[in-house]
Amino acid sequence: MRYDHLLLCAICTSVLAAADPATDGADLILLKDFRPESIYHIPQTQVHRAKFAAIDVHTHDYAKTPEEVDAWVAAMDGANISRSIVLSFATGDALAALIAKYGRYPDRFELWCYFDFTDWDKPGWSERAVADLHHSHELGARGVGELMDKGMGFKPISTTATLTSHSDTTVGMHINDPRMKPLLAACAQLHMPINIHIGEDAWMYHAPDATNDGLMNAAKWRVDRQRPGLADHDYLLAALEAAVRDNPATTFIACHLANCCADLTQLGRLLDAYPNLYADIAARYGEIAPIPRFVQAFIERYHTRLLYGTDNHYTVGIYPVTFRILETADEHFYETGKFGYHWPLYGLALSEQTLQDLYHDNIARVLQRP
Ligand SMILES: [Zn+2]
Repeated sequence: MRYDHLLLCAICTSVLAAADPATDGADLILLKDFRPESIYHIPQTQVHRAKFAAIDVHTHDYAKTPEEVDAWVAAMDGANISRSIVLSFATGDALAALIAKYGRYPDRFELWCYFDFTDWDKPGWSERAVADLHHSHELGARGVGELMDKGMGFKPISTTATLTSHSDTTVGMHINDPRMKPLLAACAQLHMPINIHIGEDAWMYHAPDATNDGLMNAAKWRVDRQRPGLADHDYLLAALEAAVRDNPATTFIACHLANCCADLTQLGRLLDAYPNLYADIAARYGEIAPIPRFVQAFIERYHTRLLYGTDNHYTVGIYPVTFRILETADEHFYETGKFGYHWPLYGLALSEQTLQDLYHDNIARVLQRP
């Protein structure tokens, strides 16, 4: 006993002796505060301008004033972004106001509208919404999006704030709802592509516990799978596939790689099957850069079907980060502050032809109108 006691004391003493601020970190640092910095002496490439003039297919109404529109154009000039597609979520007067705000730069911005889901559960909605779509087109809208279905279906934009609120228990239409069909047909007739967001990436459906690979984002963007009426990612992907299959004249852009980053083969299967489907890579750089060899092969294989986009405010400094990931072979760098994940990133070193397609040629082909 006496020996054991002494031994214990000796252990305590050695632990206490080792306890200094420099080594305590592993016990005291919160994951949310973890900001590793790479110590490797390896090439680090700064890419301030896209290799080819790029069209950013996924932005939103980030400029609140005419001066901010000017600042955005200056940022685009600096980054070699020739045009930004503003997914406005707007219809009617709100859309007209946005088109006017960005209208000083008709070659630099393109506005896409939303569907008017007002009274979507009342008789005659499809006809009213098609009429509204024609009105939006006359105002100058050139596409639709970003249609948002995170599992509870489409809702009027006035209630977007409740899209993720659990107090909203109504289930809206999914993209394959029969009432959507006339709108999908009208989009084909008007040559308006549809940018659609379905579900979330896999990390957000898993418990935000110590095993979750993407923990901080899983905690922030967590999807409650127990929520009554919630359609999961598999359901939403099947709904999208049905809509794409049944409306071959309509062009669909599944944004954020259809939130299939944890299993891109799901998206690949749809791209193989349906030529009217495209995908944008906006806001998924943090998800694809940890697995550069697999993603490089994926993007090279589908180089005619993938579209460059950012989804981030132009002041965030997102452009150089996206170029570095797409164009360079840099290894083991972090963008934890921008993307939320704690894992290191790797450049994809895409080929010149693929960069040309991804940055410009694919969306230019989609936007070609008679
Ligand atoms: Zn977006």
